[in-house]
Amino acid sequence: MDQHGHESVMDNLGILVIDCQNDFCEGGSLAVPHAERAIAQINALRRVVPRDKVSLVVTTADYHPPRHVSFAATHGDAVAPFTTIQVPARRSDDAEVQRPAHEQILWPQHCVAGTKGADLHPALELDGAELLFHKGVEEHVDAYSAFFDNTRTLHTGLHDVLSSHKVTRLVCVGIATDVCVYETVKHALELGYQVLVVTECCAAVSEENARAALADMQARGAIVVPDANALVQTI
Ligand SMILES: [Zn+2]
Repeated sequence: MDQHGHESVMDNLGILVIDCQNDFCEGGSLAVPHAERAIAQINALRRVVPRDKVSLVVTTADYHPPRHVSFAATHGDAVAPFTTIQVPARRSDDAEVQRPAHEQILWPQHCVAGTKGADLHPALELDGAELLFHKGVEEHVDAYSAFFDNTRTLHTGLHDVLSSHKVTRLVCVGIATDVCVYETVKHALELGYQVLVVTECCAAVSEENARAALADMQARGAIVVPDANALVQTI
C-alpha cells in the first residue's frame, strides 16, 4: 500500500522462471543454446526488481516419469527424437477426464523426476522464497505450458496458486522461448494475466521459431521487452 491507501503498482507482480534445469543447459540431454546466458540475465533481473516488490516468484520444472510419452525411447528404438507422433485419446492417470488424441513431438529423454538433469541449474540464483512447481508429471501427456497439459484438458494448479497471491501481472522468463515459455505465455494471456516477456532472459531451441513465437505473443497482447532495465521502466 502507498500513503494514499492504494496498492503499489508492483504489489500484484509475479515472476515465472520457466524450466531453468540442468538437462536444458550445456552438458544436459536436451541442451538449449545460450541457456546459461539466459540464466545470468534472470539473475540480473531478480537483482533489478526488488524482492519486496514481487508478490510471488515461481520456478517451474519439467519433471517427467522415466517412460514419459514425450521421450522417443518410450516408443521403441525405431522412433527418432524430433519426430512427431499421434497420441491416442485416453483417460487421465486419475481416470477423471478423457483426453483427446493429439500430436506430440518426441524429445531425447530429459528431466526425469529425481535425477540431476531435472534439478534447477546451480547458476540460477534463488532466495529461498520461490515456489517450485513441477509440470509434465503425468506419464501419458506432456505439459509445455505451466498452466495446462498439452491437450488443455486439465489445469496444473498454477493459476490457483497465483490467484491466491493476487498476482495479475506476470513476468515470464526461462527456457525455451519457442516451446515452454511460448505455451505458458499464451495460456497466461487466455487466463487474463498481463504478461511481460524479457527476451534476454529467455533461450530458444530455434532462433527462427523464437522470432515467430515472440511476434505471436505480442500479437496476442504480451508486452515484450529486451532486458531487465527495460522491464523496470515498463512496470
Ligand atoms: Zn519435457
